[in-house]
Amino acid sequence: MTINTSVFESGIDIIVVGSGFAGLAAAIEAAEAGVSVIVLEKMMAPGGNSVISDGGIAAPGTTYQIDAGISDSPELMYQDMLTAGEGLNYPELVKVVTEGANEAFLWSRDYLGVKYKERVDIFGGHTVARCYTPESISGSELIKRQLARLKELKVPIFLGTYVRALIQDEMGRVTGVQIIDGYRYNQSNIGIERTIPAAKAVIVASGGFGSDVEFRRAQDPRLDNTLKSTNKPFATAEIIKECLRIGANPVQLSRIQLGPWTSPDENGFGAGPLFGDYVVLPYGILVDPETGNRFVNELNDRKSLAEALLKQKHPVIGIADAAGVKIADWNLTRALEKGVVKTYNSLDDLARYYGVDYGALKATLARFNDMVKKGKDNDFQKPILNEATTLEEPPFYAMRIWPKVHHTMGGLQIDVSARVIHRDQQPIMGLYAAGEVTGGIHGACRLGSCAITECLVIGRIAGRKAAADRI
Ligand SMILES: Cc1cc2nc3c(=O)[nH]c(=O)nc-3n(C[C@H](O)[C@H](O)[C@H](O)COP(=O)(O)OP(=O)(O)OC[C@H]3O[C@@H](n4cnc5c(N)ncnc54)[C@H](O)[C@@H]3O)c2cc1C
Repeated sequence: MTINTSVFESGIDIIVVGSGFAGLAAAIEAAEAGVSVIVLEKMMAPGGNSVISDGGIAAPGTTYQIDAGISDSPELMYQDMLTAGEGLNYPELVKVVTEGANEAFLWSRDYLGVKYKERVDIFGGHTVARCYTPESISGSELIKRQLARLKELKVPIFLGTYVRALIQDEMGRVTGVQIIDGYRYNQSNIGIERTIPAAKAVIVASGGFGSDVEFRRAQDPRLDNTLKSTNKPFATAEIIKECLRIGANPVQLSRIQLGPWTSPDENGFGAGPLFGDYVVLPYGILVDPETGNRFVNELNDRKSLAEALLKQKHPVIGIADAAGVKIADWNLTRALEKGVVKTYNSLDDLARYYGVDYGALKATLARFNDMVKKGKDNDFQKPILNEATTLEEPPFYAMRIWPKVHHTMGGLQIDVSARVIHRDQQPIMGLYAAGEVTGGIHGACRLGSCAITECLVIGRIAGRKAAADRI
């Protein structure tokens, strides 16, 4: 899209880079504050990784939890995030996210109108169930409603607009961006260079770099192109690099999360994680096909699980039974139709298909069932959920599981006002950031559903603070 420059005649206060959850939340909040805002997006469709996410959001102290008799608090969520993050998290940022989580969830539901399922789920590393999923099980629901609100607020979103550089004044303040207008992904030499000034600020919300093999490998040499990613292919690091060029401080860039519930039998995120993450881990088991044994607490956080998987050196099998699938209550039709998840009328059939020793697998299930009945996993200390069942009711459901690069916890250092921090530890004037492009909130490991919470909480702060900048 070629930008109609008449939009700029009256001057732009705030430029938002990126049209995912974080960027759109920032743009809405800034527009609500009465300043002029534009959103720049390099792709020809808005939404980034956000639009393909499951849309799951974590929040403590909600009415859903109260109705389910779950006792939770921002403090408990804070502790869970710090435990999973191995204490590498910036505590003041985690505090802001956890204390703002419930309000962000309500903002998405009541202000924007996202419809959530009447259920509250637990994912590995959370000590209580505090995760909410949209009825559509897709982040597209939230993106759609953010876009609709921005339309009402008359905030233009320019697609095909690649931000290639930040502009600074002689004092180092960020005063605008240099773009390629009419950019087309993977096509060089297309588009026109332009400069767009911003009177107040630039908010960077350009997402993570999970698909940037060169950049991610430079941070963690194990993450070369032999590992697939759940991310869109354009989740790359150019904006992080540009911010680093002007002195932004990088935080924990090597902390890159692998999704431990993906299938090597499909590309991208795929249909399998709904079974892997939502059914197998809480209600089933992971088995090494070479031994027929379990090898890990399936409800461990993502980092511990991914490391346990990599140690196996080959894909493992996630197994659940009919009772677990029923209790989990997720629609697995797509995964079954795709053939990523398969059903077997007997354990014998399942063992034969995956080449697992039937006797060993039978013994593993018998031992697991016995521990579930006694309410304690003596082997791996997996929490036995109240409503968990034993694995004995056919058909058995199974999927091959192998990790994929999923989330980049590291990124730009920000403060509690979402200002980007220079390596001399002073804010870079006129530059804000929110969402996966930032670092330090999740430390060593992001817990499931906490990214969307973070995008909304910090994105909205960035929008408000940027709108109040230079008054
Ligand atoms: C498959 C999948 C499922 C997930 N499910 C969940 C979940 O259920 N719950 C949860 O909490 N988290 C989930 N996550 C993680 C979460 O979705 C992301 O962390 C979050 O959506 C990131 O949002 P964002 O706004 O920071 O970035 P994005 O949504 O990625 O948006 C960034 C945008 O910036 C644009 N951009 C980048 N560079 C430029 C440039 N140079 N010029 C212009 N535009 C640029 C990109 O094109 C993109 O559109 C999931 C992630 C994936 C991949």
